[in-house]
Parts: sequence; structure tokens; C-alpha cells
Amino acid sequence: DIPARTALDMFESAVVTAGDGPAVRYLGGTLGYREVDQLTDGIAAYLLENGFQRGDRLAIYLQNIPQFVLALIGTWKAGGVVVPLNPMYRDELAHILTDAGVTAIVCSESAWADRVGSRASEAGVRIALTSSELDIQTSDDERLFRTVTRARSENVPDLLEVARVRAGATVPDPGLTPEDIALVSYTSGTSGVPKGATNTHRNLTVNSAILRLYEDKPAGAPIFALAPLFHITGMVCQLLTAIDLASPLILVYRFEPGVVLDALERERPIFMVGPSTAYMALMAHPDFSGERFASLEAVMSGGAPLPPAIVERFRELTGKYIRNGYGLTETSAPCVVVPPNLEAPVDPASGTLAIGLPLPCAVVRIIGEDGKDLEPLEVGEIAVDGPMVVPAYWNKPDATAQALPGGRLLTGDVGFMDAEGWVYVVDRKKDMINASGFKVWPREVEDVLYQHPAVREAAVVGEPDSYRGETVAAFVSLRPGTTVETADLVEYCRERLATYKAPRRVEIVDELPKTASGKILRREMRRRAPA
Ligand code: ATP
Repeated sequence: DIPARTALDMFESAVVTAGDGPAVRYLGGTLGYREVDQLTDGIAAYLLENGFQRGDRLAIYLQNIPQFVLALIGTWKAGGVVVPLNPMYRDELAHILTDAGVTAIVCSESAWADRVGSRASEAGVRIALTSSELDIQTSDDERLFRTVTRARSENVPDLLEVARVRAGATVPDPGLTPEDIALVSYTSGTSGVPKGATNTHRNLTVNSAILRLYEDKPAGAPIFALAPLFHITGMVCQLLTAIDLASPLILVYRFEPGVVLDALERERPIFMVGPSTAYMALMAHPDFSGERFASLEAVMSGGAPLPPAIVERFRELTGKYIRNGYGLTETSAPCVVVPPNLEAPVDPASGTLAIGLPLPCAVVRIIGEDGKDLEPLEVGEIAVDGPMVVPAYWNKPDATAQALPGGRLLTGDVGFMDAEGWVYVVDRKKDMINASGFKVWPREVEDVLYQHPAVREAAVVGEPDSYRGETVAAFVSLRPGTTVETADLVEYCRERLATYKAPRRVEIVDELPKTASGKILRREMRRRAPA
């Protein structure tokens, strides 16, 4: 029974609980909860002075820096909706700014000059604030949040300066309700053009509250932000869960294995969540050592498939078990999680590792082509109902009718449930390979490749073939200091899988393309098919 609240209510309780206690840690500097409260009053006051109105959209185009947190809460205090943007976006920016009808934006100074300014003006953005990321990155601890802002050629005010000048300003209560939209968060675009999911305040606070109950961490326990804040996993599991616990959120500018390993040693967090690819990159780094992870009570992976071989490798090296979490932007982060103190079972028939049990409040069903519920172990589409499911996509009635009929989310993922309720994901519906009429699910083949000691990352895709329709191709990157013949990898798969599933072609690449949320982009690899 989770009370309906807004994310702003949640933040305000944290200010009462934590007072001057730490809210954000970055490069060894700290912002306290009360300080964030005052600075965000300042941001809200500035927005309102400049004509920003309730329900207006403000886009945040930033890496994981303290200003992200300030812009988010400041916008909610002004009654607005936040559109978190992937800072790797270029042309996608123009599309999203227009699609979401964004009128205000916060980005770095360099991004403004380089790629945001012109696109934002064309899209009708009226209010712009920048953050001097470079100053913050190079300043020492003491000067961290007292950066002297330089005169700006473009006349775009600095977010921190604006916030400090008006800190503690009285702003009218925006009167937000739990049903108001808090975020328009764009899907990762793994399978196509990103769509804006409208996460309401209730969607967000329900999920972070459940996670908090699940994790049962003491107030003030530090949470490490491994995932980007613009992605729903980072937003809910890291930032909002930290706020709900009145805990400090530890930020690093963006995921860099060496920087993360240093920060873990320095900050001793107790909880962290990130995509499986982040754990793979950490284990491949020369500074990796199990002791760096010693303080962690919960290590979670979310937002992308977690190969069983990675869970085992990580456990051997650190003694910690990575708990999986499954969710979509449309479910406001995870809706299926491996609960604390449990380990995910492996389905004996298919060898698939479970992704978890549905969170309390999430109703997960496996449905057939006719929309009817299937029996345990029958494979079908995963459908989710519950208070974490978004009511709609922004401005896309057709996509809403298709993916959210009657308010139930059709995830586009194929999977099954066992008799105990454990959920298993086979793969994404769209990624199925049809090789001579045989169904091949890329995940199964990737999981085998990950067992090979030389393989760091793997992506399996279908390539057009005039005779078979499609054939199975694999792209792999190797662990540092290893070599392997591609023919050996093909043989390795043939020994472990039905022949039609084994790749006919393996290509070794330096690095696989990923979304900024850490998902390996199979569709990019499909484009590399030989002509
Ligand atoms: P788009 O819808 O634009 O293609 P996307 O679906 O990648 O983008 P997200 O909402 O970030 O956007 O990702 C949700 C998808 O990620 C799920 O549908 C699922 O395929 C995958 N996923 C998330 N968590 C897991 C997990 N633990 N195991 C397997 N797959 C996962």
C-alpha cells in the first residue's frame, strides 16, 4: 500500500529528514539537502519570472553533474515537466525538442555553442540556461560549487549563478498532483525512433518507494550513480531512490571505468545499479579489484540483458552477486527484480536465467497472439499492468493505442513465467532471426559466446541471405590480452547449440556500439551486413 505522492513531496520530506546532510557528492564536493532546496527555489523563481508556466516542458541535456539534480527539482517547483535528453544526441535533439514542445533548456556551455543553440531557437525554445561543466570538472574540492562564472558571449545565463542569486526565494506552491506528468522520457531508441513516455509523479514515486522497501537501506546510505540520470533507470533507481532515503547520490561525470573504480574506493557506496555492459567494462579495466566493491550491499543490473556468465565472473572477482532488474521507460524503471537475499533460478529446460519476480503492485502476464494469458512455461509477449505503467506516449495516440491498449503495456519482449512466478525474457520480439524457417533468439547465442573466456561483449544479428532468408552472424569484442580465431568461436557455439543457431559468420571488433544507457545496439550491427 504505497501512498500517492509527487516527486516534489518526496524531495521535501528528504529536506526535513536530512537537513544539511549530503544530497549530492561530485568530485569530492558536497551539496546538502537544504542547499539544494534553496538553490532550486532560485531556479523555479527564475523560470517563473521568465514566463515559464505550469505544465511547460524544460529539457535537461547534461551529463551526470549536480546541475542535473538542481534543474530537475527547480522545474518541478515551477510546476513544469522535465524532458531528460541523452547528451549524445545531435540531430535527434531537434526532433525531440519539437515533439515535446520544449520551451526551456539546460545544457553545458560548450553544447550550447556547438549544437544546441541553433537547434533550440529553431524549435521555439525561449529560456536557456547553461552549466559550466569544465569549471566544475577542474576545480578543486573547496571551490567546487563556488565557481566563478565567466562572461558569456551568447548571453545565456549560468544555472548555478541564477540559482544562487535567487536562493531561498519564495515561490508559489505549484499544486502538483500525483497524476501530473513529471517527465517526458524518451525510450532508448534501440528498436527505432525514440518515443516520449509520460511518467507521472505517481509512476515515479511508486517505483522508487517499492525499491526502497525492497532494499531496506538505512537513511543516509550513499547510492552510486553508475547509470546516466537522463535514462529512466538512473532517474528512478538512483536519483529518486536516494531522495526517498534522504541519502547522498554519488555522481561521476559519465561512465568511465577508471573514474568509477576510484570513486568507489573513495565514497564507499552501499547501493549501485547500472547496465550489464558497465560491469563488463569495469571487469576489463586494469585497476579493477574486488576490494573496491567491498562496501556495496546491493549491486544491481538493469535496462539491458544480463548474461549469466557475467554474473558468475563478477561473483568470482568481487564476491558480490549482481541482481537483475527488468523494466522499460514505459514502466518507469524496473517492474521485475531479483529480490534481496534470493538468486535467480535457471529454467532447466531452456537454460534461461530468470530476470526476477514482479515488484509488489506490478502485474506481469505472458500473453499469446490472441491476447489471452498463457500457462506457466509457455512463451509469449510480456504484458505489464500497475501504477508504474505510463498512461500514454506524448503526442502519439497511435503508438499509445498500440502499446498501451486499455492501459496495459505490451512490452515487445518475448518471455515466459514459471509456476513460482519467476519471469524469464527470451528476447525482443523484433530481434528474432528467421534462419531457413527456424526461429533463433540472439540472446541465447550471445549467452553462449559470453561463456568463452576471450569474449568481452557479443551481439548476434540476422543477416540477409538469398537462400536461407537470414543467417546468424555474431560480432564480438575481446577481453584485454586475449586472442581467438573466429572459426574457434563458431565451433564453440556449434558444440553447445543446435547447428542452425550457431553463427555462420563471426567478426571481431574493438568495441560494440551501445546506446548511452549501455544497451548494445544490434541494429547498428545489422547495417554492417556484407552487401
Ligand atoms: P526503443 O523502445 O526506442 O527501441 P528501448 O526499448 O531500448 O528503446 P528502454 O525503455 O530503455 O528503451 O528499454 C527497455 C527494453 O530493455 C526492454 O523492453 C527490454 O528489451 C530491455 N531490458 C531491460 N531490462 C532488461 C533485463 N534485465 N533483461 C533483458 N532485457 C532487458
